[in-house]
Amino acid sequence: MNPSASPCPECGLPQVITEQGLSLIARCGGCGWMVATTNPNHPIMDRTPYALRARPGALASASAIARLAVALGIGVKRARELIAQDLPVAENVLALEVIRLHGVLAGAGLQVEITPAFRWPLDPRD
Ligand SMILES: [Zn+2]
Repeated sequence: MNPSASPCPECGLPQVITEQGLSLIARCGGCGWMVATTNPNHPIMDRTPYALRARPGALASASAIARLAVALGIGVKRARELIAQDLPVAENVLALEVIRLHGVLAGAGLQVEITPAFRWPLDPRD
């Protein structure tokens, strides 16, 4: 996987990250979303590979499995494995993708665990 091609946080299409001098520019070819920063304290500068796990939290496990399957567009059988075995739903994802996936999963009512500890705001619109 090309680490510079993490998906757009708005539409999920691959975005292209380019360097111009000290700036990093992330641009989405799909919806035009773009961010440019020279700030090292910005999620696009974070190259940490994260893993996400989805847990039922307050949901009944059958409900969590169904919601996970819909949220990720995967089969119920796979969703059941992920929940029952506490497997990562995503691995080696970069910060912007973590934020996008967290939004999808938390929006489905699932509890999300991110490892290692995530140091960015999970809703970039906050
Ligand atoms: Zn986009």
